Amino acid sequence: MTHVFHRNPKQQLDLAVRGQGIRIFDQNGKGYIDASGGAAVSCLGHGHPDVIQAIKDQLDTVAYAHSSFFTTQVTEDLADFLQQRSPGDLDHVYFVSGGSEAVEAALKLARQYFVETGQPSRRHFIARRQSYHGNTLGALAIGGNAWRREPFLPLLVPAHHVSPCYAYRDQLPGETEEGYAQRLAQELDDKIRELGAENVAAFVAETVVGATAGALAPVKTYLQRVREVCDRHGVLLILDEVMSGMGRTGHLFACAEDGIVPDIVAIAKGLGAGYQPIGAMIASSRIYDAIVGGSGFFQHGHTYMGHATACAAALAVQQVIERDNLLDNVLARGEQLRNELRGALGKHPNVGDIRGRGLFVGVEFVQDKDSKATLDPARKTHALLKKQAMQNGLMMYPMGGTIDGVHGDHVLLAPPFICTEADIGEIVSRFAATVNQVLPA
Ligand code: PLP
Repeated sequence: MTHVFHRNPKQQLDLAVRGQGIRIFDQNGKGYIDASGGAAVSCLGHGHPDVIQAIKDQLDTVAYAHSSFFTTQVTEDLADFLQQRSPGDLDHVYFVSGGSEAVEAALKLARQYFVETGQPSRRHFIARRQSYHGNTLGALAIGGNAWRREPFLPLLVPAHHVSPCYAYRDQLPGETEEGYAQRLAQELDDKIRELGAENVAAFVAETVVGATAGALAPVKTYLQRVREVCDRHGVLLILDEVMSGMGRTGHLFACAEDGIVPDIVAIAKGLGAGYQPIGAMIASSRIYDAIVGGSGFFQHGHTYMGHATACAAALAVQQVIERDNLLDNVLARGEQLRNELRGALGKHPNVGDIRGRGLFVGVEFVQDKDSKATLDPARKTHALLKKQAMQNGLMMYPMGGTIDGVHGDHVLLAPPFICTEADIGEIVSRFAATVNQVLPA
């Protein structure tokens, strides 16, 4: 009888007793390839000696000092590291303990920015359907994932949603990528006008949609068109790179590939790579200066913000990624992963789409390839795939409700950046076996 209030109390969980490289081992000694980094977290795999040493060294120095009394050198160093590599004027790093906290901080900062700059009517947030921004009430309110929101609707602040950029399903026949990007930008523009631009604070989007849609990258110019719409109406652009940032797509900041700079970006998972809980919100100088030159105080905060040991782990993670040129590996292995998946499963009747950027890869399943009709949600194919994969010694991150929160099944693969060519081959072989067992062709 467990006294842990587990995520899913009815599920029988094995014990994870050891992590080494790309594998986790259970109490029976069985190894599982962590092909999803948990939930796109463990980008350096498990047991990395450099990160462990950095944590030990920090514990021997000062484990934690409350941020209203002190800063620590390692917190300053990590902020410098991120600032030097962030695009544009994203220069001010606010450290928290995870992704939801980073998004909450971004929402509150956006609101306070408008209060301080004499635009207090700006209160609405617009996000996209099928997005996920976290489970705390503010982040859940702006998220567009119907089933996660449903029971809590009476508690959620009103938010507004527009279409995701989902080319596989929504780009019209004959429509160019640019035409599609413009159509979506027009939808955002229309929504802002409907609410009254003077009432809209920010548009929030995942640069590449992660858990809820399966590594759904936007078409090339989508974010540029979105940036233009936001600028036209004085609306802030908040990018949620909690899952897609910190190298997952082959770029430290995923939006670098789209050639735009948001006003605020949220990062988390890959920042500490699971070695410590840490996230961050990075704000532009324009926003930071408005607060510092206004009230002088961002009215927010958490006990563990800027936690020294968490920052030490994250700095070590980021230094290893840079020292070992792992982002080059992310690009090369990502290309290999998609190509090999297409080779192994491209003709499978239930594999509709294989997509993604870098080592952030999604596979969407269908009932019928031509019509793109989805599998019957009652079959819970995503859950069957996860169960079978675990039997096959493979960790992957599947989810249902890909399209509208109810219909659709996909699997997210997010292997560690340290994967070798042979590791990717083994992941594809176990993944293809799993798919063929659950969905015999
Ligand atoms: N934003 C995105 C895009 C995420 O994928 C997640 C988690 O999956 C979150 C926010 C919430 O992060 P956390 O679970 O660390 O609170």
